[in-house]
Amino acid sequence: MKNPHVVIVGAGLGGLAVALRLRARGFSVTLLEKNDRVGGKLNLVERDGYRFDTGPSLMTMPDVLRDLFAVAGERMEDHLTLESLEPLCRYDWPDGTHLDASSTLPRMVAELERVAPRDVAGYFRFLSYGADLYTATAETFLFNDFRDLRKLWKSITPHLLRQLPRMATTKTVADKVQEFFTSPHLQQLFNRFATYNGSSPYRAQATFCLIPYVEFGIGGWYVKGGMYRIAEALEAVARKNGVQLRTGASVAEILVANGKTGGVRLESGETIAAEVVIANADSLYTYSSLIGRENRKIFTDRKIARIEPSCSGFIVLLGTRKKFDRLAHHNIFFSRDYPKEFTDIFDRLQPAQDPTIYVCSTSRSDPEMAPPGCENLFVMVNAPATSPAFDWDDIAADYRNLIVKRLEEFGLDGLSDSVEVEEIITPKRFTGWFNAWRGSIYGLSSNSLTSAFLRPPIRARDIRGLYFAGGSTHPGGGIPLVLLSGKIAAEAVETDLKQ
Ligand SMILES: Cc1cc2nc3c(=O)[nH]c(=O)nc-3n(C[C@H](O)[C@H](O)[C@H](O)COP(=O)(O)OP(=O)(O)OC[C@H]3O[C@@H](n4cnc5c(N)ncnc54)[C@H](O)[C@@H]3O)c2cc1C
Repeated sequence: MKNPHVVIVGAGLGGLAVALRLRARGFSVTLLEKNDRVGGKLNLVERDGYRFDTGPSLMTMPDVLRDLFAVAGERMEDHLTLESLEPLCRYDWPDGTHLDASSTLPRMVAELERVAPRDVAGYFRFLSYGADLYTATAETFLFNDFRDLRKLWKSITPHLLRQLPRMATTKTVADKVQEFFTSPHLQQLFNRFATYNGSSPYRAQATFCLIPYVEFGIGGWYVKGGMYRIAEALEAVARKNGVQLRTGASVAEILVANGKTGGVRLESGETIAAEVVIANADSLYTYSSLIGRENRKIFTDRKIARIEPSCSGFIVLLGTRKKFDRLAHHNIFFSRDYPKEFTDIFDRLQPAQDPTIYVCSTSRSDPEMAPPGCENLFVMVNAPATSPAFDWDDIAADYRNLIVKRLEEFGLDGLSDSVEVEEIITPKRFTGWFNAWRGSIYGLSSNSLTSAFLRPPIRARDIRGLYFAGGSTHPGGGIPLVLLSGKIAAEAVETDLKQ
């Protein structure tokens, strides 16, 4: 049988990944992106000689991206230069404590001995615990669709079975971190990793302690020229390989008849017929805005309203006419009261008044990202998903001032006066820019034991021919997982068509 035509809604990383994989298997693929540029949340702002990545700043599990290039007949190294950074991240606390984290063990141990000597052994045990979790779960829960029972049985390993009792816990990330570290500084540092999938360490299940292992044990990388190079490279390969990529093409509806998809209708009125439609656009947005209510059997408005999105982000891009030598490439300035910060974000749905602040200055390791003598600061704090409680437009300027003042208190003297280029990105803007559900940046939160089961699955259960690929479906948000969702979606399409 001739491979049917596939339409993909959205050219974020998930859309690009599934497009490249299906094209490599001989499918005719149309990739539709509503914005003028591909990449979705991996995006950029360029102004007056400053280049800012506006989304991801750290790449983990690079083999996943390398594999995608290989499937498309290319070598990642011919397109991208990955750089491992030293330090991996600089952490600062309000009491003056600081720590330069490193994935080079002797350096990391030296820093731990300086800051929290009693916790050095705990660090080794914690990494080993994370490594066990990662090696036991990755094949079943990240590289495959655990909700596809045929695949589930094949991917279960003796190692996973041995780890199951440790994984079947109601303990949270914070509970577990406390078992390994006595230092409040290190507890805060390792709790922070729960935010890497948009969740709270005080609610996310302890299995997410595998995330620090991925960063410290496997490594974290920057892409020379800026993270947006990833999107540019994938776009170039997709076009070269014959993916029909259209930007400025906003989909208004996924056409469904008799429980089966038949293609899409664009906002321009044009319809494109397809037997397979893959939504890379946020899955909850897709159900609520692109699929008629009469065709939604599972993700009804009521069900969607009950699903908790991941947190969002409040971002200030600052081009400064001076350099701040106390900064590394990645920097974290911690809040005084970490539990309160997460109560504000996830329970009160309010911006934290004393937020932990992340500052990324790619120009420190990649001078071409800013004019000579200047820095391109990407300043971000975790923020609540949008809600009717308030309008971000009303508070953005004050919140920006609070954050800049806090950074000056941490020692970035003269920051405010040195700004010559500035742009604010609020959760509300994420909603409009990418149709991110309530401004979420990682899809759905993992704040409960059942979160993984609440996500719309890769294969829509209520509409034949409809699939999802991206951070709001399995296995979750973040560059490597989103790329993996593209792999899993491509496999699901192929498997289903063979039947
Ligand atoms: C500020 C920030 C920091 C982050 N930091 C990191 C990090 O350091 N490391 C990491 O690994 N991950 C990070 N992430 C997460 C990572 O960026 C995302 O998980 C990933 O990029 C999401 O990709 P996606 O393909 O799922 O979705 P998206 O990027 O949201 O792509 C969906 C695409 O669909 C398009 N679309 C939506 N609706 C329509 C429509 N109707 N018609 C046509 N097109 C449509 C959108 O415009 C978008 O291009 C960060 C994200 C943000 C925002």
